[in-house]
Amino acid sequence: MAIRTKLVAGNWKMNGLREDGAMLAHALRQRAIAAGGTLGCEVVVCPPATLLSEVGGILAGSGIALGGQDCHAAPKGAYTGDIGPEMLADLGCSYVILGHSERRHGHGETDAVVRGKVAGAWRAGLVAILCVGETQRQRQAGEAIEVVSSQLAGSIPEDATAATLVVAYEPVWAIGTGLTATIEDIAAMHAEIRSRIPSGTRILYGGSVNPKNADAILRLSDVDGALVGGASLDAADFWAIAQSCPAE
Ligand code: PEP
Repeated sequence: MAIRTKLVAGNWKMNGLREDGAMLAHALRQRAIAAGGTLGCEVVVCPPATLLSEVGGILAGSGIALGGQDCHAAPKGAYTGDIGPEMLADLGCSYVILGHSERRHGHGETDAVVRGKVAGAWRAGLVAILCVGETQRQRQAGEAIEVVSSQLAGSIPEDATAATLVVAYEPVWAIGTGLTATIEDIAAMHAEIRSRIPSGTRILYGGSVNPKNADAILRLSDVDGALVGGASLDAADFWAIAQSCPAE
Protein backbone atom coordinates (compact mmCIF):
# COMPACT_ATOMS: atom_id res chain seq x y z
CA MET A 1 0.00 0.00 0.00
CA ALA A 2 1.20 3.53 -0.80
CA ILE A 3 2.57 5.56 2.10
CA ARG A 4 0.00 8.19 2.99
CA THR A 5 2.20 11.23 3.69
CA LYS A 6 0.11 13.62 5.73
CA LEU A 7 -1.07 16.80 4.02
CA VAL A 8 -2.07 20.08 5.64
CA ALA A 9 -3.85 22.38 3.20
CA GLY A 10 -4.71 26.04 3.85
CA ASN A 11 -7.83 27.40 2.18
CA TRP A 12 -7.54 31.19 2.32
CA LYS A 13 -10.99 31.52 0.70
CA MET A 14 -11.79 35.07 -0.53
CA ASN A 15 -9.36 36.76 1.84
CA GLY A 16 -6.34 38.94 1.32
CA LEU A 17 -5.17 41.83 -0.81
CA ARG A 18 -1.70 41.61 -2.36
CA GLU A 19 0.09 42.99 0.68
CA ASP A 20 -1.68 40.61 3.09
CA GLY A 21 -1.01 37.62 0.85
CA ALA A 22 2.67 38.49 0.50
CA MET A 23 3.07 38.93 4.28
CA LEU A 24 1.43 35.59 5.00
CA ALA A 25 3.43 33.82 2.31
CA HIS A 26 6.71 35.28 3.59
CA ALA A 27 5.86 34.21 7.15
CA LEU A 28 5.14 30.66 5.95
CA ARG A 29 8.26 30.56 3.81
CA GLN A 30 10.39 31.57 6.81
CA ARG A 31 8.90 28.75 8.89
CA ALA A 32 9.33 26.18 6.13
CA ILE A 33 12.98 27.10 5.61
CA ALA A 34 13.62 27.00 9.36
CA ALA A 35 11.96 23.56 9.59
CA GLY A 36 14.38 22.34 6.93
CA GLY A 37 12.32 19.31 5.93
CA THR A 38 11.69 18.10 9.48
CA LEU A 39 7.90 18.61 9.29
CA GLY A 40 5.80 15.43 9.46
CA CYS A 41 3.59 16.51 6.57
CA GLU A 42 3.34 18.10 3.17
CA VAL A 43 1.94 21.66 3.19
CA VAL A 44 -0.11 23.36 0.47
CA VAL A 45 -1.66 26.82 0.47
CA CYS A 46 -4.64 27.75 -1.68
CA PRO A 47 -4.88 31.56 -1.93
CA PRO A 48 -7.50 33.40 -3.95
CA ALA A 49 -6.78 33.27 -7.70
CA THR A 50 -5.71 36.93 -7.64
CA LEU A 51 -2.79 36.07 -5.34
CA LEU A 52 -1.60 32.81 -6.88
CA SER A 53 1.15 34.32 -8.97
CA GLU A 54 2.65 36.46 -6.22
CA VAL A 55 2.28 33.87 -3.44
CA GLY A 56 3.69 31.18 -5.74
CA GLY A 57 6.74 33.34 -6.39
CA ILE A 58 7.35 33.89 -2.68
CA LEU A 59 6.91 30.21 -1.81
CA ALA A 60 9.08 28.90 -4.67
CA GLY A 61 11.82 26.68 -3.28
CA SER A 62 10.30 26.59 0.21
CA GLY A 63 8.76 23.14 -0.17
CA ILE A 64 5.26 24.57 0.33
CA ALA A 65 2.99 23.68 -2.59
CA LEU A 66 0.44 25.95 -4.26
CA GLY A 67 -3.20 25.13 -4.97
CA GLY A 68 -6.31 26.70 -6.45
CA GLN A 69 -9.68 26.89 -4.68
CA ASP A 70 -11.79 25.82 -7.68
CA CYS A 71 -11.54 25.45 -11.44
CA HIS A 72 -13.69 24.98 -14.51
CA ALA A 73 -13.80 21.56 -16.15
CA ALA A 74 -12.70 22.90 -19.56
CA PRO A 75 -9.17 24.03 -20.41
CA LYS A 76 -10.37 27.28 -22.05
CA GLY A 77 -13.35 28.86 -23.75
CA ALA A 78 -16.26 31.25 -23.39
CA TYR A 79 -16.69 30.91 -19.61
CA THR A 80 -16.59 34.46 -18.30
CA GLY A 81 -15.07 34.68 -14.84
CA ASP A 82 -13.93 31.07 -14.70
CA ILE A 83 -10.41 29.67 -14.51
CA GLY A 84 -9.36 26.51 -16.32
CA PRO A 85 -7.26 23.86 -14.58
CA GLU A 86 -4.46 24.32 -17.12
CA MET A 87 -4.33 27.99 -16.05
CA LEU A 88 -3.78 26.91 -12.43
CA ALA A 89 -1.05 24.50 -13.48
CA ASP A 90 0.53 27.28 -15.55
CA LEU A 91 0.75 29.41 -12.37
CA GLY A 92 2.60 26.66 -10.54
CA CYS A 93 -0.34 24.97 -8.78
CA SER A 94 -0.11 21.27 -8.10
CA TYR A 95 -3.42 20.97 -6.20
CA VAL A 96 -6.95 22.29 -6.54
CA ILE A 97 -9.80 22.17 -4.03
CA LEU A 98 -13.02 20.98 -5.68
CA GLY A 99 -16.57 20.52 -4.45
CA HIS A 100 -16.09 22.69 -1.36
CA SER A 101 -19.42 23.10 0.40
CA GLU A 102 -19.25 26.85 -0.25
CA ARG A 103 -19.33 25.93 -3.98
CA ARG A 104 -21.81 23.07 -3.67
CA HIS A 105 -24.25 25.10 -1.56
CA GLY A 106 -23.37 28.68 -2.55
CA HIS A 107 -23.03 28.07 -6.31
CA GLY A 108 -25.31 25.07 -6.78
CA GLU A 109 -22.54 22.70 -7.86
CA THR A 110 -23.88 19.18 -8.28
CA ASP A 111 -21.88 15.96 -8.00
CA ALA A 112 -21.84 15.76 -11.81
CA VAL A 113 -20.38 19.27 -12.09
CA VAL A 114 -17.75 18.46 -9.47
CA ARG A 115 -16.90 15.20 -11.24
CA GLY A 116 -16.25 17.10 -14.49
CA LYS A 117 -13.98 19.52 -12.64
CA VAL A 118 -12.03 16.65 -11.06
CA ALA A 119 -11.50 15.11 -14.51
CA GLY A 120 -10.36 18.52 -15.80
CA ALA A 121 -7.92 18.88 -12.90
CA TRP A 122 -6.41 15.49 -13.72
CA ARG A 123 -6.11 16.38 -17.41
CA ALA A 124 -4.01 19.38 -16.32
CA GLY A 125 -1.86 17.26 -13.98
CA LEU A 126 -3.33 18.65 -10.76
CA VAL A 127 -4.17 16.65 -7.64
CA ALA A 128 -7.85 17.15 -6.77
CA ILE A 129 -8.73 17.80 -3.12
CA LEU A 130 -12.35 16.67 -3.30
CA CYS A 131 -14.56 17.94 -0.46
CA VAL A 132 -17.54 15.98 0.84
CA GLY A 133 -19.67 16.44 3.93
CA GLU A 134 -23.14 16.46 5.36
CA THR A 135 -25.25 19.35 6.66
CA GLN A 136 -26.36 19.51 10.28
CA ARG A 137 -29.89 18.49 9.31
CA GLN A 138 -28.60 15.46 7.44
CA ARG A 139 -26.44 14.40 10.41
CA GLN A 140 -29.33 14.84 12.83
CA ALA A 141 -31.50 12.74 10.53
CA GLY A 142 -28.90 9.93 10.62
CA GLU A 143 -28.09 10.45 6.93
CA ALA A 144 -24.43 11.52 7.18
CA ILE A 145 -22.88 8.32 5.81
CA GLU A 146 -25.46 8.02 3.05
CA VAL A 147 -24.91 11.64 1.95
CA VAL A 148 -21.11 11.39 1.94
CA SER A 149 -21.15 8.02 0.15
CA SER A 150 -23.42 9.41 -2.52
CA GLN A 151 -21.16 12.48 -2.98
CA LEU A 152 -18.14 10.19 -3.37
CA ALA A 153 -19.92 7.96 -5.88
CA GLY A 154 -21.13 10.95 -7.90
CA SER A 155 -18.03 13.14 -7.79
CA ILE A 156 -15.10 10.78 -8.37
CA PRO A 157 -14.31 9.76 -11.95
CA GLU A 158 -13.61 6.07 -12.54
CA ASP A 159 -9.88 6.38 -13.13
CA ALA A 160 -9.13 7.80 -9.66
CA THR A 161 -5.82 6.86 -8.04
CA ALA A 162 -4.19 7.61 -4.70
CA ALA A 163 -1.72 9.84 -6.54
CA THR A 164 -4.34 12.08 -8.14
CA LEU A 165 -7.06 12.24 -5.50
CA VAL A 166 -7.26 13.54 -1.92
CA VAL A 167 -10.64 13.44 -0.18
CA ALA A 168 -11.47 16.08 2.45
CA TYR A 169 -14.28 15.19 4.84
CA GLU A 170 -15.78 18.51 5.90
CA PRO A 171 -19.06 18.42 7.82
CA VAL A 172 -20.78 21.55 6.53
CA TRP A 173 -21.92 22.56 10.02
CA ALA A 174 -18.31 22.53 11.26
CA ILE A 175 -16.90 24.90 8.61
CA GLY A 176 -16.10 28.32 10.01
CA THR A 177 -18.36 27.79 13.02
CA GLY A 178 -15.88 26.80 15.73
CA LEU A 179 -17.73 23.47 16.00
CA THR A 180 -15.86 20.26 15.25
CA ALA A 181 -17.11 16.73 14.80
CA THR A 182 -16.34 14.42 17.71
CA ILE A 183 -13.22 12.29 17.47
CA GLU A 184 -15.46 9.21 17.30
CA ASP A 185 -17.55 10.62 14.43
CA ILE A 186 -14.43 11.66 12.50
CA ALA A 187 -12.89 8.20 12.94
CA ALA A 188 -16.12 6.47 11.85
CA MET A 189 -16.65 8.66 8.78
CA HIS A 190 -13.01 8.41 7.66
CA ALA A 191 -13.14 4.60 7.94
CA GLU A 192 -16.32 4.61 5.87
CA ILE A 193 -14.77 6.88 3.23
CA ARG A 194 -11.63 4.72 3.11
CA SER A 195 -13.73 1.69 2.18
CA ARG A 196 -15.06 3.56 -0.88
CA ILE A 197 -11.93 5.10 -2.46
CA PRO A 198 -8.73 3.69 -4.00
CA SER A 199 -6.31 2.15 -1.53
CA GLY A 200 -3.71 4.62 -0.25
CA THR A 201 -5.82 7.73 -1.01
CA ARG A 202 -5.35 10.44 1.60
CA ILE A 203 -8.36 11.62 3.60
CA LEU A 204 -8.19 15.04 5.27
CA TYR A 205 -10.52 16.33 7.98
CA GLY A 206 -11.76 19.90 7.71
CA GLY A 207 -14.02 21.99 9.91
CA SER A 208 -12.71 24.50 12.46
CA VAL A 209 -9.35 22.79 12.86
CA ASN A 210 -7.11 24.90 15.07
CA PRO A 211 -3.83 24.46 16.99
CA LYS A 212 -5.76 23.24 20.07
CA ASN A 213 -7.78 20.44 18.45
CA ALA A 214 -5.35 19.47 15.66
CA ASP A 215 -3.29 17.06 17.73
CA ALA A 216 -6.17 14.75 18.66
CA ILE A 217 -7.60 14.81 15.12
CA LEU A 218 -4.32 14.26 13.30
CA ARG A 219 -3.45 11.30 15.53
CA LEU A 220 -6.40 9.25 14.22
CA SER A 221 -5.20 6.42 11.99
CA ASP A 222 -7.53 7.21 9.09
CA VAL A 223 -6.89 10.97 9.18
CA ASP A 224 -4.14 11.86 6.71
CA GLY A 225 -4.10 15.60 7.32
CA ALA A 226 -6.32 18.63 7.53
CA LEU A 227 -8.03 21.18 5.30
CA VAL A 228 -7.83 24.42 7.25
CA GLY A 229 -9.83 27.56 6.53
CA GLY A 230 -9.86 30.33 9.14
CA ALA A 231 -6.72 29.22 10.98
CA SER A 232 -4.72 29.17 7.73
CA LEU A 233 -4.86 32.98 7.63
CA ASP A 234 -2.57 33.14 10.65
CA ALA A 235 0.92 31.84 9.88
CA ALA A 236 1.65 30.83 13.50
CA ASP A 237 -1.64 28.93 13.86
CA PHE A 238 -1.37 27.25 10.47
CA TRP A 239 2.19 26.20 11.14
CA ALA A 240 1.29 24.90 14.59
CA ILE A 241 -1.36 22.69 12.95
CA ALA A 242 1.21 21.38 10.44
CA GLN A 243 3.59 20.70 13.33
CA SER A 244 0.88 18.62 15.03
CA CYS A 245 1.29 15.94 12.35
CA PRO A 246 3.06 13.03 13.96
CA ALA A 247 6.36 12.20 12.21
CA GLU A 248 6.08 9.22 9.82
C1 PEP B 1 -12.69 25.15 4.91
O1 PEP B 1 -12.97 26.23 4.41
O2 PEP B 1 -12.45 24.18 4.18
C2 PEP B 1 -12.65 25.04 6.37
C3 PEP B 1 -12.49 23.86 6.90
O3 PEP B 1 -12.82 26.21 7.07
P1 PEP B 1 -12.62 26.40 8.65
O4 PEP B 1 -11.30 25.73 9.01
O5 PEP B 1 -12.61 27.85 8.87
O6 PEP B 1 -13.76 25.70 9.32
